[in-house]
Amino acid sequence: MPPASLPLATRPITTLKGVGPALAEKLARLGILTVQQLLFHLPSRYLDRTRVQPIGGLQPGVSAVIEADIRAADVVYGRRRSLVCRVQDTTGTLTLRFFHFSAAQKQRLSAGSRVRCFGEARRGGSGLEMIHPEYEYLDGDSVKPLAGTLTPHYPTTDGLTQPRLRTLMSEALTLLSVQPIDELLPAQVRQSLDQIPLAEALKLLHQPPADVNLQQLAEGVHPFQQRLAFEELLAHQLSMLQFRQRIRRQRAPTLQRDNRLSERFLQQLAFELTAAQARVDGEIATDLARPEPMLRLVQGDVGSGKTVVAALAALNAVAAGKQVAVMAPTEILAEQHRINFSDWLAPLGVATCFLSGRLKAREKREALAAIASGEAQVVIGTHALFQPEVAFDDLALAIIDEQHRFGVHQRLALGEKARSGFTPHQLIMTATPIPRTLAMSAYADLDCSVIDELPPGRTPVATAVVSDQRREEVVERVRAACAQGRQAYWVCTLIEESEALEAQAAEATAQLLSEQLPGLNVALVHGRLKNAEKEAVMTAFKTGEADLLVATTVIEVGVDVPNASLMIIENPERLGLSQLHQLRGRVGRGASASHCVLLYGSPLSNHSKQRLRVMRESTDGFYIAEQDLELRGPGEVLGTRQTGQMEFRIAELARDAHLLPSVRRAAEYMLSHHKEHSAAVVERWLGGRERYLGA
Ligand code: ADP
Ligand code: MG
Repeated sequence: MPPASLPLATRPITTLKGVGPALAEKLARLGILTVQQLLFHLPSRYLDRTRVQPIGGLQPGVSAVIEADIRAADVVYGRRRSLVCRVQDTTGTLTLRFFHFSAAQKQRLSAGSRVRCFGEARRGGSGLEMIHPEYEYLDGDSVKPLAGTLTPHYPTTDGLTQPRLRTLMSEALTLLSVQPIDELLPAQVRQSLDQIPLAEALKLLHQPPADVNLQQLAEGVHPFQQRLAFEELLAHQLSMLQFRQRIRRQRAPTLQRDNRLSERFLQQLAFELTAAQARVDGEIATDLARPEPMLRLVQGDVGSGKTVVAALAALNAVAAGKQVAVMAPTEILAEQHRINFSDWLAPLGVATCFLSGRLKAREKREALAAIASGEAQVVIGTHALFQPEVAFDDLALAIIDEQHRFGVHQRLALGEKARSGFTPHQLIMTATPIPRTLAMSAYADLDCSVIDELPPGRTPVATAVVSDQRREEVVERVRAACAQGRQAYWVCTLIEESEALEAQAAEATAQLLSEQLPGLNVALVHGRLKNAEKEAVMTAFKTGEADLLVATTVIEVGVDVPNASLMIIENPERLGLSQLHQLRGRVGRGASASHCVLLYGSPLSNHSKQRLRVMRESTDGFYIAEQDLELRGPGEVLGTRQTGQMEFRIAELARDAHLLPSVRRAAEYMLSHHKEHSAAVVERWLGGRERYLGA
């Protein structure tokens, strides 16, 4: 037994009663190694066993205690044999259903008995029912008292039960009552949080008293929850700002603009930069001329012209005799960039090179050699550029398109590819407009530029939401548009993220549509085609040889065909709003009025209806992203769910966004005045995770 004074932060979980290796291993899966980590494992919800609820007031999906008389009990032989009891109190009746029961249970669970039950009410065949509730008889005289506190329900893992977690937690809370837990927030910061002591907040959240404001607690807005949410958001913010500081302390090559080169580039474009493009270009050029690495995010709606801005930035590095990496999240987008960059840069005598996972062995060897020798000045590719075998001669700038699909750690991998002693500048471009509140939190490590203007001459896309029962009308609409010399997209979506299945679905659709639309040239593109095939299809569509392009969501980004003015999206309810917005951005690029038909599978849930309505009503990417955030949560909006960056224990960005400005101020204050505490806050909330994400 370790001394009682062992601090909670370092006291191993195995010092709690009954925690042997097997249990410790399960706890470790939840990231719990110390008593403090256990205390920060917070309930995801609460069950109320402190009072008896009237049956008439039960809500489906909510657990409750009831007390009632058994009116009837029968063994029913349905699909599965079950014991069904009808119970009643003065406010209503309820069914209890048991699939497993002994003869003795059957004997006593019979008409005339009075029981107290605890369980979750669900909708059943005849009104509400509880399946396998916990129950006890109220006939005898040894009735247990009701719980004095709400019962917490914890996120858990296989083989670790709620009662077990609760027992461990009470032990930890007992320790907490005799031992201090480090209060890491400076007094000045705590002032804005009603000075709620951390220990009290933890105690309340693990064992809320019966008279707690349940509504507040359920919504996560109880001041004690907000106290912890603040600290958690602060931990994330600190971690990103620390990361940024670390990078900024490194040295980057200073890249001056060569006006002759950039002017030749601009002259050969068929258009003038928009004011927004010129402004953002200026911001980037200023960053690049400085000796610390740029960390800049460029946000711009689909079609706002980010690529040109990226190319201008690339020229700064080229002029300095250094290399640039341009990375895209998909093959098709990388391909599109390859075409754009080589078209624009070849006339200026700049050598480009392409690298993706689909290159043949020999092509790949050649590309790697050109990258290593420095002969390739601008290297365009997919995540293949992250591979360890890719060694640049002198990488000065990494341009990452659609960053939300790459994790922070991948960005870092590119940073390591610089010539020793130097860190490349990073330019991240995203077409997913990020609501301000989210940007502040998710991209705290980046400076932001916004291209908030579309090139002139674009007409907004009119969007219709149509049931798939009217599919024939929609097919007719495609025919009519193509008859007028326009082109159209037909986008197939799948729930499963399987390229193979998606490709199959798209093939079937293309087949069907070419039967329904004789005389039209229907082309098909999906992620499974070989590069050359894809390129041939895209070229056919670009030149107008193909009228209708059936595609999977691979066309989401990058495809640019101004004559295409109609887009049908099948089962749009399966996609996020921001993704739909991106898809829709493929049309409305020419001068003619464009349309988008969202062809949903009926019936549609209310929630989905609401989401599709947002698409019909707005073409403003920022507004759509805000709505997406409200309707689906930040993980979906940012697409970072896989990378686990944005998983919070208690905070919720949409709900707690109002905390962010003061979180940001607190983070800056702590970094300059309480450095040691900053690190401890990060460690407490992010523990092992931040080492994985961080530098
Ligand atoms: P995105 O921001 O979605 O990546 P792109 O860079 O692909 O947008 O640009 C979309 C289209 O607009 C391209 O055809 C591009 O050549 C064109 N474009 C970019 N800037 C301008 C501009 N200032 N004026 C007119 N067209 C432009
Ligand atoms: Mg783009």
